[in-house]
Formats: sequence, C-alpha cells, structure tokens
Amino acid sequence: MSSILKGIAASNGIAIAKAYRLVEPDLSFDKKTIDHAETEVTRFQEAISTSKSELEAIRDKAREELGEDKAQIFEAHLLVLSDPELLTPIEDKVKSENVNAEFALKETADMFVSMFESMDNEYMKERASDIRDVTKRVLSHLLGVQIANPSMVTEEVIVIAEDLTPSDTAQLNREFVKGFTTDIGGRTSHSAIMARSMEIPAVVGTKSITSTVENGDVIIVDGLNGEVHINPTPEVIEEYKKEHARYEDQKAEWAKLVNEPTVSKDGKQVELAANIGTPKDLEGVKNNGGEGVGLYRTEFLYMGRDELPTEEEQYEAYKAVLEGMEGKPVVVRTLDIGGDKELPYLNLPKEMNPFLGYRAIRLCLDEQEIFRTQLRALLKASPFGNLKIMFPMISNLQEFREAKAVLEEEKKALQESGTSVSDNIEVGIMVEIPSTAVMADTFAKEVDFFSIGTNDLIQYTMAADRMNERVSYLYQPYNPAILRLVKMVIDAAHKEGKWAGMCGEMAGDEIAVPLLLGLGLDEFSMSATSILKARSQIRQLNQKEMEELANQALMLDTNDAVIEAVNKAISK
Ligand code: PEP
Ligand code: MG
Repeated sequence: MSSILKGIAASNGIAIAKAYRLVEPDLSFDKKTIDHAETEVTRFQEAISTSKSELEAIRDKAREELGEDKAQIFEAHLLVLSDPELLTPIEDKVKSENVNAEFALKETADMFVSMFESMDNEYMKERASDIRDVTKRVLSHLLGVQIANPSMVTEEVIVIAEDLTPSDTAQLNREFVKGFTTDIGGRTSHSAIMARSMEIPAVVGTKSITSTVENGDVIIVDGLNGEVHINPTPEVIEEYKKEHARYEDQKAEWAKLVNEPTVSKDGKQVELAANIGTPKDLEGVKNNGGEGVGLYRTEFLYMGRDELPTEEEQYEAYKAVLEGMEGKPVVVRTLDIGGDKELPYLNLPKEMNPFLGYRAIRLCLDEQEIFRTQLRALLKASPFGNLKIMFPMISNLQEFREAKAVLEEEKKALQESGTSVSDNIEVGIMVEIPSTAVMADTFAKEVDFFSIGTNDLIQYTMAADRMNERVSYLYQPYNPAILRLVKMVIDAAHKEGKWAGMCGEMAGDEIAVPLLLGLGLDEFSMSATSILKARSQIRQLNQKEMEELANQALMLDTNDAVIEAVNKAISK
C-alpha cells in the first residue's frame, strides 16, 4: 500500500530507490528445548560459516577503501569466530542441555564478555567488545534477521534511520546512497547540513519512518517539499521523475552563473562563500562558484577516528584548503565539539543539556593543549593562502580576549623559532549566542569580523532545540526577534569599519536572502549547493528596495507576517 510521510526538507532534490534500513535489528529470542541436538549444532555451524564469509568480504572492502587499521577490526572478529575456546562450549551446551543454539550462544558469549570486561586490561576489554559484536552477527544469521552493513551496499538505496550522527553521514557511500530519511532531527542538525554538502536529498524528522518502512520498499525522498512516499503508485513515480528532470534543468540554468559576480540589480556586490567540513568539499565549492570559504568546520577532522589528529595532520588539511582556494578568503573555525558533534575518545561525561554545556571554545580554553595544537597547525599553514581564524560559541568578551591571547602566544613562539607565519590573519568570532549579539557594539571594537551563526542563535534565542522536530515550529529564522539581533550585529560591525558575514543555514535561505541583503550583510556563507541559487536570486533583487523591506520586517509582529511580506515583495 502506498503512503506519504511528512517531515522536514533537509536537503534539496528528489531521489527514488529501495529502502535500506540502518537500524538496530531485533535479536530477541526464546529459550527452547530441542529434539535433535546434532541438527541444532549443524545449524549453529552454518551460521558461523555464513558470518565468516560475510566478515571476510567486509574486511577486504575495508582494507581497500578505509585502510589496514579498519580491516584489522574485522580480522579480530574473524579470529573470534575460529576460536575453539568459545565455539566448543557452545556446541557442548546445545548437546548436554538440549537447548537452542541462540540460547547456548548468548549464554556462553555473555559469560566470556563479563569475564573479560572485569579484567583491568585494555586488551581483554577490547576482546569483550569483539565477542559482543560477533555474537550479534551470528545471532542475526540464526534468527534470519539482517544486520545493516552500509559499507557493503552495492545497489542504489535510500537509507532509513532513526537518526544519523555526523560520522554515520560522512561514511555514506555517495555512489549508492541516493537519499536518506530519519525519524528525528531538524534542518540544522549536522547530518542535514552534511547531506546538503554531499548533494544527497534528505527528509528528516518524519517521526515514524523506521516503524513504517521495510527493507526493499520503494521510497521517494522529496527533499524539496519534505515528503517521503512509500511504495508509490507508478503514476506518482512518473510525476516525480518529471519533477526531478525539472529540478535538473533549473540547476543547469543556475550553473551559468558560476563565474559571475554576485551583484544586485542596483549594483551592490556581496560575497557568496561556502561552508565546508573537509578539504574534499573544495571541489563542490569550485563547481558552485564559491567566492571563498566562510566556514570551515574543523571538527570533522577530529571525527571518525580513535584519537586526536596530530599537528602535522591538521597542518596538511588546512594547507590543502588554503592552497585550494588560491588566495580567496578562508575562514577556519577552531574546534567546535559538543552538542550533536561528539568525540567518544575524549571520554567526556554525558550532560543534561549538551548544547548548553562543555563545548567549543569552553572546552578549548580548558583543555589548552588541544587548542594550542590546532592554532599552531593553522598558523604554520597561514602563508599558503588568505586565512581568517574564527572562534565558536563566544558568549562574552573575556572569552574572546583569552582565546586571542593564546593565539598570540603561539604565534610569537613560532615566529621566535623561525617559523614563517602570515602577519595578515584576521581574527573574528561566531555570533551565535544572544549575549554576544546584544554586546556586538563592544565586541566590534576588538574583533576583525563577525560571522553570525544562526543555527545556534535561533535555538538559543527562541529556546528551541535545533535537533528536536517537536519544537521545530519554534525554530523561526524570520521572527523579528532574530532579525533585530542580526541587524544589531551588522550595524555594530559597520560602525567600526569591520565586516559581517553569516554562516548559519539562514544565509542561503530564499526568504532570508532578500532581508539579509537589505540589512547590509557583507558575506553570505552557505552549503556550496545553495550558492548558485542565491546568486541568481540576488542578481534579480534591488538592494535599496530590500532595505525598505527589511526595515518593515523589523517592525512586524510574527515570523509568518515576515514571510508574507517577503513573498509579496519578491513576487512583484
Ligand atoms: C551556526 O551555529 O549557525 C553554525 C554555523 O555552526 P554549527 O551549525 O556548526 O553549530
Ligand atoms: Mg553553531
């Protein structure tokens, strides 16, 4: 039966493919008495041998694509599956107690897991975790349940998940993953932001996709309207294929602007920059005509690994981005870990309110070796391009002064040791906490630039968690409260002869762009895939008229009233 689920449009485009569930499988079973122990042992041995072939294939693929380190994880799993010390007691249990293989496996494996875990020895603890993983795999074969292995997907799929962490998203194989849809999440959750930079259509926050969809169902992800169609009729599929073609034509039209400047009809020029997460994203920046990098989210360099990146590794990444941008501005944000971006290897305690907790600059000023290593890598890379450094989550001036002092100290030490460092590095802050927006006039005297981080600024101003689809109606970018804060920041910068940019998702939003142009924003930084559309829009707008529109919007009473006013003005 066909059905439609509504969600939040997180990444533009349309994708049609079969569902691939990336969810924890149900591995529950009952203890049973069996009649033929020999048959049960054979069933167990077959599950072991299927698990082995599966793991060998995963290991080989990991070796090819992810390197020897990752392959070793699966090699260790294979060793467990060949270990008679584990297998023999399971088979003995089946035979002596006449119990089903699932029960014998789980009981025996649990016994080894708790024994190894209780040892004060890292190596044995890792073996416990290997046994736990392997048990799951063998159980899944005994029960005929599939365990998701996204790295082994070999046909086009739509990934269905409760949620995707940023590191899950980074591991999606663009060749086969045509779209994704989740139960939870909002437009500015980091998996949504990454989907946009990877150009994978996505709908998040559907609330119930995982409980509605089975593996193999045909799915349409409509990332333009925030809809997911499940097992649609052939007519609906046809309609969407046409819609997809229309969208591709539209993109081809925008692509003509790739080398054009971003100038309004009455001659006001602004800069359209891109938000990136890794040096690999530079290709997208170029293909989409980015005039700079307005936000390099360096935290992705720290993710999907077991330890902090070294100074050398970081230096190479920053140098690659600076060189790749060939002298165009590159705003690098220092580590912004926390919120929905976790680093398990830092072993930070769980917090009640991670978005309000120990994160970003707070962590960096506390764990200064992490911060200093990053700053040194940045300073050493600075001669290779036009570097600007930006601190995240600044909430008061003292924090900025402290961060800047650490930067100055590292710079001085490097210069004294004869290392060349650019003497032309602008140092700015993200304005994403309301206290900082309100104090922008004071900050403007000390910083070189502002970049407004509306993803967080909106959540903190409206007290609406950006990850929570149940309060997404409160996540209101055009609410006059937000617009007034944005205006305060831009005006404060200009009064001191500084520039103001925006790197939150709002910068590329078609309702917001006319308002931001009117408010005098200098730099708009967005997912690379939004740049050409925004350029096309700005070239059709008159800045003076948008100034009037923005002034009117500041005095309106609600988010909806602003949307209405903008729509009226731009449809003229
Ligand atoms: C923001 O908060 O607007 C921002 C750009 O940073 P992030 O989305 O990484 O929190
Ligand atoms: Mg932020």
